[in-house]
Amino acid sequence: MTNVRHPRFTTFVDLIERLVDDAPGEPTILEGGSALLRKLIAHDDWLPEAYATHDPKGYTQYLLHVDPRERFSVVSFVWGPGQKSPIHNHTVWGLIGVLRGSEYSQAYVRQPDGSLVEAGPPVLVREGSVEAVSPNIGDLHAVSNALTDRPSISIHLYGADIGKVRRSIFQLDGGTKTFISGYSNASTTTKYIS
Ligand code: FE
Repeated sequence: MTNVRHPRFTTFVDLIERLVDDAPGEPTILEGGSALLRKLIAHDDWLPEAYATHDPKGYTQYLLHVDPRERFSVVSFVWGPGQKSPIHNHTVWGLIGVLRGSEYSQAYVRQPDGSLVEAGPPVLVREGSVEAVSPNIGDLHAVSNALTDRPSISIHLYGADIGKVRRSIFQLDGGTKTFISGYSNASTTTKYIS
């Protein structure tokens, strides 16, 4: 299902499909996918306004495309001024490209006692750049809008139908909660399971 008809987006989806059709290893997917995502976000003229609208109550996720075979999905995240995510994992590979504005991504590592510590300083992801996550390269982070006066928008590509993946949010003391992402445009809400 593709919710965006602009040729820049449909070409991106076609090329990601071709990339995963060849079933290369994760490093090749992250490298090839990053190049394609950078190309997509180099122009801010294709995301319909309906999927670029922020909600003062919290950051918003809109499903843009899900692969019929559930090998990947594409989501736009719209962050209002000052909005941030909890610390969370993905459990699959993911690429985050900033289309508009800029965001901070703060990585975390889990210590032997289960608690979390910051892994280095926050990374400022500027308009046009791409960050990668996966259980192999670092999967825990918290994301925030780096701008205090306007929304930022990032385009996320995940190696699964992310709306079906059970994953976790974390407290610094190591406490976790299981959740499955919902989408504002699909009448689904994020489900917290435990
Ligand atoms: Fe994330």
